[in-house]
Formats: sequence, C-alpha cells, structure tokens
Amino acid sequence: MNTMNQSGWKPGTPVPSAGEDDYPTATGNKALMLEEPLLFELGTRETCGVDLPEPAADASPRLGQFARKQPLDLPGLSEPETVRHYTRLSRQNYAIDLGLFPLGSCTMKHNPRLNEKIARMPGFADVHPLQPVDTVRGALGVINELAHWLIALTGMHGVAMSPKAGAHGELCGILCIRAALEARGDMRKVVLVPESAHGTNPATAAFAGYEVEDIPAGPDGRVDLAALKQRLGPDVAAVMITNPNTCGLFERDMKAISDAVHAAGGFVYCDGANFNAIMGRVRPGDLGVDAMHINLHKTFSTPHGGGGPGSGPVVLSEALSPFGPLPYTARTKDGVIHLVEEENADAFSAEHFDGRMQSFGRMTAFHGQMGMFTRALAYILSHGADGLRQASGDAVLNANYLLRSLDDVLDAPFGDAGHCMHEALFSDEGFAEGMSTLDLAKGLIDEGFHPMTMYFPLVVHGAMLIEPTETESKATLDQFVVAMRSLADRVKAGDETLNTAPHHAPRARLDEAQAARKPVLAHRKPETD
Ligand SMILES: *Cc1c(COP(=O)(O)O)cnc(C)c1O
Repeated sequence: MNTMNQSGWKPGTPVPSAGEDDYPTATGNKALMLEEPLLFELGTRETCGVDLPEPAADASPRLGQFARKQPLDLPGLSEPETVRHYTRLSRQNYAIDLGLFPLGSCTMKHNPRLNEKIARMPGFADVHPLQPVDTVRGALGVINELAHWLIALTGMHGVAMSPKAGAHGELCGILCIRAALEARGDMRKVVLVPESAHGTNPATAAFAGYEVEDIPAGPDGRVDLAALKQRLGPDVAAVMITNPNTCGLFERDMKAISDAVHAAGGFVYCDGANFNAIMGRVRPGDLGVDAMHINLHKTFSTPHGGGGPGSGPVVLSEALSPFGPLPYTARTKDGVIHLVEEENADAFSAEHFDGRMQSFGRMTAFHGQMGMFTRALAYILSHGADGLRQASGDAVLNANYLLRSLDDVLDAPFGDAGHCMHEALFSDEGFAEGMSTLDLAKGLIDEGFHPMTMYFPLVVHGAMLIEPTETESKATLDQFVVAMRSLADRVKAGDETLNTAPHHAPRARLDEAQAARKPVLAHRKPETD
C-alpha cells in the first residue's frame, strides 16, 4: 500500500525543505533522512489503525444535540504507519543526547542513565499517592533524605518539597511571605524585582496580588544597592533577586541587600534556579535569604524541556518556616527533619513552633514529583558533597572558557566585571547593518548546534546567553567556539546568506509571527460528502 499516493500527496511535490539541492531525489528523501509530510497529507479519513465495531443504531439519537452531524476530518493511519511517522519526526529533533544545548538560564545538561534507571524501579515508579502510608515508607524516606540534603546545601531551616517547577516554587515562596506578613497584620503591597530578573519573578509577584516595581541594575550588571535601599519602606513586602543573576553574575551585595530589606520589615526571595553555579560553595541561608526555590530539573539532573517534568522545592528561613505549605519538611529545635501533614500539624506546631505554625495551605494534592525526587537523590548520592562542589566549579569553569574564547570577536558587556558564573553573556554590538542575533542563532543551527538563549536578559541589546554546564567536554566546547567565531566574523562582515539561515535544516526559516498568528495545521481541504 502506498499511503502517499492514497492521500493525494504526490512524490516530488515541493515541500518547504531548506537550501539548494544539487542532487534532488524524486521522493524528497535524502538517503536515510526521510522527508516527512504532515499527518493530514499522509492519512485518510477512511483508514483506521484498529477495527472498531459499528456503532449501535440508536447511538446518535441518544446523544441528542451532541451527536456529530459530519464525520470528523481527522487523518487515519495504520499502526505501523503511525509508528513510522512519529519515529521519522523524532529523527528531526535536536536533543541533549545529540549535542550541546547552550540555552542560558536553562541548565540543559547530561542526565546520568543511573538516575533514570533508579527512577524507573517499580518500587518508586509504581507507588500510588493514595496508598496507605505504611506501604510507602521507602518513598517517604527518599523525600526526607533529599530534603535533608537540600537544607544542608542551602543552610536554610525548612523545605517545602511539593512545588512542581521553578515558577510554582516562586509562588509558594511568595505565598509564605504573604502569610507571614498577614500573621503580623501587615498588609504590604509592593514586591521589588530587579530589571535583570527572570520573567517568572514579576509574573509570580503579580499573580500573588502584589504591585511589581523595578529596581535598576548598575553599570556592572548587578542590582544597584543604593537605589534599592532608597526604595525600601513600609509598603515593600519582599525583594525577589536571582542569584547568580541572569547576566551570569554573582550578586556580591546579597548580604547587604538582605540586611537592608530585613531592617525595613520585608522578606528576601531568592530565585535559586541557577543554584548549579554555587552549590557546595555558598549557602543562601548565610546570605539572609528567606525563601528560595531550587530547580531539581536543572541543578540535580532530570531531562527537561518541551514542557517538563519539573520540580521546584522551596527552602525556607526560620522566620518563614511556620507558614510553609503542607506536606512540609522542617528541621526544628531538635535538629531532626520531620514530615508534617494535616494530621500531625497541630501537635507538631505545639511541640516545635510554640503553636505558631500557620501553613498557608497546599500547593498540590500530594507530595510532589516522585520521579524527580528519586533522580535528584540518585544524582546527589552518586556525586557526594565533594562531587557537587566540583560540578558547580566545572560549570563555572566551562562558562568562563567560552567567555574568554569569544570575547575578542563578540562584545561581552560585563566581560570587564571579572569572572562570570555558569553562563556567558554577549551582545550584538559590532554586528554589520542588517545583521541580528537571530541571524547568528539560525546560522548556529546550520553548524549543528541548538541556538543559545536570545534577547534575554533584556538589559543587554541583542543578548546571547550561553550556558555550557559542567557536563560538556573541552573538545565539544572547542568545536562550538569554532562555529561561534566563524559566525561572529560573518555577522560582522554582513554576510547576507545568514539572513535566510538555516539552509541545511529540515525546514527553512519560518515566518515566526505568521506561524504564531495564522498556523496552518492541515494542508488538506476537508472533503465534502
Ligand atoms: C528556569 C528558571 C525559572 C523557572 O523555572 P521553571 O521550572 O521553568 O518554572 C525561574 N528563574 C530562573 C532564573 C530560571 O532559570
């Protein structure tokens, strides 16, 4: 059976494939790289992968107004054709297991296979959240052991394990802060967020009902301490600071910032998504942080991207600990970590918080992302404390290697400010007229690399934010540098072929605005009966 002919798709008809081809083929396939039409071009309404019984004669009348009046125009394929369609598409994917993924702020790194194996062990993978507690002691033990590590690594007092991503963790932290302020009858309205913050920070503060105000960055890319101090006052609930920040720089004034915020009666939220850079070297608790989320899916392994999965536990200071969500893991007077749930919350509060515990509620129905917990704990235990310290050192070393291998051909706006942390930041200064960061990034696709984070942070014009992580070898970084140096020369020389790159990818450059506003999801016109 020839599906392509059956569907009306003619071999050799133009597919928007990129670049000139000196050796065109009749099918559009290129040896083992197969050209793949859309499902709508491939399938037919008549084909079905399984044999279903005819619907009962009285089925439609019983559905009343909900009965379908026309057949659905969905493409049908046989089972093997379906498998092939998605397998062919998957071969056009770029993935961390294929090559460097230098997305700044995303920490895309190798995920040790051991962690995957452990997360799939039936004792972890098959537990059900409604199982009797007595049957899941081991899983709770894993959560507690991980909580113990997170508290030790951050020097904080307690940790809420249930938030399911970084942004969810931010919301959890800000709700803790709001609960703590409300408990003292203090209805502050404003959250201060630096210009260089990750976009989720202002979004979180606004979602929690706060007015968001900017704090400017100084010329060195760090928070302007004087401007911050000047803005503090009785209306400021919290300051949200990303450290290391999104310019890839460590906020050296963090302790002074915390002291000033506390003196003005506010709380300090630290966006700890970039903990990868400082793990084993700096404890945010020592810097006066009150709440910080940790992205397990970035720092502590777990494949992510394309929508998940994630996990964003929030570590809390002593002042915020009584307000954390349930279930809640806390280190208390006795130095032991306890798991607190609704059933034992009152007794726990009486014993450890002098009855002051006032959880703001729950972030999720159950305990959080079990698969992430097992991966993260496997990662931590296989590295050990010394290995975690080395991982952050290597991540910073790799980023500085890239910064210094490229700063003679690309403008590094904070290159003179000293070492960067886990990511290197460049701007589009010096590009020829008509050449953009987007052109360079598309050229990178032709060179076989996933592009870096572009146009973020906003404080740098045409920003390119590159995070190599600790898992890339020097050989990989050197190859990336070769590609970047060549592209830097081309954008500075005004090489117009870059304006239409990529040329070698399965698809040419898309009109992104058009694709977002008027997506064409089906090429076939619906047939009318
Ligand atoms: C990734 C990231 C976030 C958001 O984390 P999600 O898990 O994607 O919600 C927040 N802040 C910073 C600095 C990040 O890098």
